[in-house]
Amino acid sequence: MNQPLCLRTVVDLRAQVAGWRQQGLRVALVPTMGALHDGHLSLVRLARQQADRIIVSIFVNPTQFAPHEDFGSYPRTFDQDMALLAQEQVECVYAPLATEIYPAGFDLSIILGGPATAGLEDRFRPTFFHGVATVVAKLLSQSAPDIALFGEKDFQQLAVIRKLVRDLDLPVNVIGGPTIRETDGLALSSRNVYLSSQERHTAAQIHACLQEARTALLQGEDAHKACEEAKSQLQKAGFDIDYLEYRDAVTLGPAGSGACRLLVAAKLGTTRLIDNIGIEG
Ligand code: AMP
Repeated sequence: MNQPLCLRTVVDLRAQVAGWRQQGLRVALVPTMGALHDGHLSLVRLARQQADRIIVSIFVNPTQFAPHEDFGSYPRTFDQDMALLAQEQVECVYAPLATEIYPAGFDLSIILGGPATAGLEDRFRPTFFHGVATVVAKLLSQSAPDIALFGEKDFQQLAVIRKLVRDLDLPVNVIGGPTIRETDGLALSSRNVYLSSQERHTAAQIHACLQEARTALLQGEDAHKACEEAKSQLQKAGFDIDYLEYRDAVTLGPAGSGACRLLVAAKLGTTRLIDNIGIEG
């Protein structure tokens, strides 16, 4: 099995992409922070259906972590990631040196409105989307792909990136991929390794409660009541809830008559989990 080509500089990445372009090939970017699991690989497989060459970026982006968050301890499993990507026959891994993204004197932070200020993740991680928008803009500018793929697991992030691309007229097609789950419903996440075995068992309640709330909503239950019911169930199971909200699926503003989404963030012990579910209008 061929290891993907591993590039660490913008110059090398651009030369590689230019070569592909000359051959008329379609290029996909799948941005990740590594510690890859089937959720990431599902995006690679989706990319494979729509592009000729795939770049997976692996960069644990310091600017999206607050000082008290887990930047230092975030799982880093580079060799295993390379092996998984070799199995998927990914052509290129872009694992930039930190100085390729944030060179000395770097002075940009992208601050978006709209979905980035919807009062969900941004309420609890106030600088998170500044870091995400800035690094994604850099990665898109450096790799100039035709398509870029992101997971619905991070639903607000996906909406923020769509808005970033629209507001900056970036010539890339953003594609969202469905959330991949464990058999008990827990959304795959690189941070699930932080859960104790008891917490791991309880964690499945998040998806179960969202599904129950979804059923209630589709049966005409009042949205506030459905959310309060789901919150109280999760609290009883031991979660400390940051938010559980019913929102418009595109703007992430108040739910209207179109497609909607239930979004939740909750802590189990010291591990913070997020998830969401679609509610067809
Ligand atoms: P991360 O490495 O956590 O920054 O995630 C990289 C990409 O993988 C993001 O677009 C995530 O939304 C996506 N992703 C993470 N977990 C999942 C999952 N369980 N299902 C689908 N996509 C996911």
